[in-house]
Amino acid sequence: MPLQPLHADPVLEGRPGTLPDWRAELANAITDPAELCQLLNLPGNIASNAASRDFSLLVPRPYLRRIQPGDPNDPLLLQILPRKEELQERAGFSKDPLREAGSAGEGEPGACPQAMTLWKYHSRLLIVTTAGCAVHCRFCFRRHFPYRTAAVSETHWEKEFAAIAAEPSLQEVILSGGDPLTLDDDSLAHIIHQLTKAPHLCRIRIHSRLPIMIPQRVTAKLTEVLRATRLATFLVVHVNHAAEVDDEVAKALGRIVDAGVPVMSQTVLLRGVNDRLADLVALFERLVNLRVLPYYLHQLDRVAGAAHFEVPEVEGTELMRQLRDRLPGYAVPRYVRETPGATHKHPLG
Ligand SMILES: *Cc1c(COP(=O)(O)O)cnc(C)c1O
Ligand code: SF4
Repeated sequence: MPLQPLHADPVLEGRPGTLPDWRAELANAITDPAELCQLLNLPGNIASNAASRDFSLLVPRPYLRRIQPGDPNDPLLLQILPRKEELQERAGFSKDPLREAGSAGEGEPGACPQAMTLWKYHSRLLIVTTAGCAVHCRFCFRRHFPYRTAAVSETHWEKEFAAIAAEPSLQEVILSGGDPLTLDDDSLAHIIHQLTKAPHLCRIRIHSRLPIMIPQRVTAKLTEVLRATRLATFLVVHVNHAAEVDDEVAKALGRIVDAGVPVMSQTVLLRGVNDRLADLVALFERLVNLRVLPYYLHQLDRVAGAAHFEVPEVEGTELMRQLRDRLPGYAVPRYVRETPGATHKHPLG
C-alpha cells in the first residue's frame, strides 16, 4: 500500500491516497485458509479445511495486519483461524445453545412477533438486522444460525416496524446480527428513520464488530446518521484483545464518541486469547482511555465447535476479583452468562 500523505483523512471516503473504502475492504476480505497462512508466514497445516467448510474463514485485511506473522498462538489469529479442534464433539455444546432457532422468542414478555426479532427482555427488543458479518469469529454462538433461510426482506422489515409501533411497552431497539454495520449508511438511516416513528421508542442500540475490523466503516455520514436522530443512540463494539485496537481503530472510536454517541464494549472470555489478567487489564485500560466503557464480559456460549475456547466460570470469577483490585470501577465490565429463556443475562462473579 502506498504511504499515506500526512494530511490524509480516512473519514473522507474515496479520496485518492486515503485508505480503501470500507466496502472494498469487506469485498477484499480473506476467505482462503491457504492464503491466510501464506500471508502470515505460517505452515498451511495449522488451518483446517474441514473446519472452514463447516463455518467459512472470513477475515478483513485491516484486522489481519494486526496479527504477528509467524506466531501460531497470536490472540487475534486464534479468533479467526479454522482449527481441527472445532470438529471435536463435546458434551454440553450444541448447535443452538440459546435455543433461538424457529420459535426465536420463547419466554416473556410474549412470543416473538417475527422470526428475526428476539424479544426476550422487558422493554427492549433485539433485531437480527442482517446475516452479514465483516469477520467470522470461530467462537460465535450464531455460527450455526440458519441465516440463509431467514433473510430479512423489505416486507419483513415493514412488519417489524409495524409490530414495534404497535407495542407501547418497547423503549429500546437493539440492532444486532450478524453485524448491522455491514448495511450501508442509507439503509441504516432508513431503519432508524422508520423506528423514530414509534412515539414510545426512546433508544436505539447498535451491536457491531465492524469499527474494530474495518475502522473506515466509521464514515462521516455514519456518525451524522447516529447523531441526528431524536433517539438516544448507543454503540456497543465487540472487542476481545488490546491488540485489536490499533491507531486507526482508536481514531474511529473517537469519531463516534465525539459525535455524542456513547460507546461501550463487549468481550468474550476466551481461552488462549484473553484468559490472563494482564490481557484483560490492557484491554479495558485501552478502552477507557479511548472513552469506551466496558459493558459485558461474556462467558462463552456453549456452541458446538467452540469448546476449546471455554474458560471455566470459577477461573472467570477469580479474574473478575483481580480486575476489581486493579481497575477503576467504571473500567470493570459485568461478567455474565446467557441462559435460554431467562429475562436478563445471568450475572457471574
Ligand atoms: C443481550 C440481549 C439483550 C440486551 O440485554 P441488555 O441487558 O439490555 O444489555 C436483549 N435481547 C437479547 C435477546 C439479548 O441476548
Ligand atoms: S462479528 Fe459477532 S455475529 Fe459476526 S461472527 Fe463475530 S461474534 Fe458472530
